[in-house]
Amino acid sequence: MIAHQGSAIYLVPYPHSFIARFYDSIGLRTPKLSYQKWSGEQPEMTIGRTPYDSAGLSHGQYAFWFGAKFGQKPGMWVVDPVGKKLQGAPISESARKELLHWFSGRASEESTFEPPMYEGDGISRQLDSITLEQHIMQRSGLRQETIRTFLSPVEGGGSGLGPDALSAYCVYAADLLHPLDDGAGEAVQMFPGGNTTIARLMAKALIPSCIDGPAMVEAVSRNAVRLAALDTPGAAVRIRLSATVLSVHHDGDPAKADSLTVAYAKDGKVFRVKARSAVVAGGS
Ligand SMILES: Cc1cc2nc3c(=O)[nH]c(=O)nc-3n(C[C@H](O)[C@H](O)[C@H](O)COP(=O)(O)OP(=O)(O)OC[C@H]3O[C@@H](n4cnc5c(N)ncnc54)[C@H](O)[C@@H]3O)c2cc1C
Repeated sequence: MIAHQGSAIYLVPYPHSFIARFYDSIGLRTPKLSYQKWSGEQPEMTIGRTPYDSAGLSHGQYAFWFGAKFGQKPGMWVVDPVGKKLQGAPISESARKELLHWFSGRASEESTFEPPMYEGDGISRQLDSITLEQHIMQRSGLRQETIRTFLSPVEGGGSGLGPDALSAYCVYAADLLHPLDDGAGEAVQMFPGGNTTIARLMAKALIPSCIDGPAMVEAVSRNAVRLAALDTPGAAVRIRLSATVLSVHHDGDPAKADSLTVAYAKDGKVFRVKARSAVVAGGS
């Protein structure tokens, strides 16, 4: 089974940009993905390109789950929630009306709100002065309780906080980063296993024997990593796993030093390596 992990969206880069050239160097020559067509015998199912889509919501190929929080044990599915107007859902009448308004898309269609065009414009700054929750309440007329009960995990999820704490600008910020807008939302895409594919392409480009097959998306996604090949004595590139770096320092005066020393712990022992240069990339 292949499934997404945390970092999953990658965008089609501007041609000739740094990131486009980097992708090219690791074998990602056609960064825009093409998709399989439905070929099963069952009726075609609407499938989202990202787990953030509500693909199928308007076609009835969608369901909401109500669990213990809604007094349901073990829980119940409400299939085709919008088409069936949330009939049978264990929620109050007012929540039902608000949610139908929200999920029908009317809430945003009827709003006169204009989204920001670029980071730093007047609208983006105004949005950054209020919470996302306030923005949804103003724009769509939802009550705070409805947002907190039903929408919080999704609306704030990409940022790891609830809309009560996030800046309203967060919801638009990512869109303003999209380098190429082809109008169909196709700039947002995910590999089958998320951005681990980029890491695997990088490993394959550096150490070709570490994954079987060609340095292409399909092969690196399907084939296992040979851990032993990552760290072979004599190889030009070695990747050392389970090694925690304890210190990185110049040998002598940093302004004049020709070398530096990296100390790391592995299997309960401390090792040192001397290097001409180092890139410390301990996170972001
Ligand atoms: C939940 C989530 C979802 C995300 N979604 C997306 C997305 O959809 N698209 C996108 O483009 N970005 C996304 N991001 C952001 C993206 O994942 C990060 O920007 C990116 O991974 C940062 O890469 P990095 O190499 O700088 O750091 P990291 O990927 O954090 O790598 C740093 C590495 O250094 C290691 N390390 C730290 N200290 C030491 C030490 N002392 N010794 C040895 N090793 C050490 C860590 O274990 C880690 O493996 C997401 C992030 C999160 C958390």
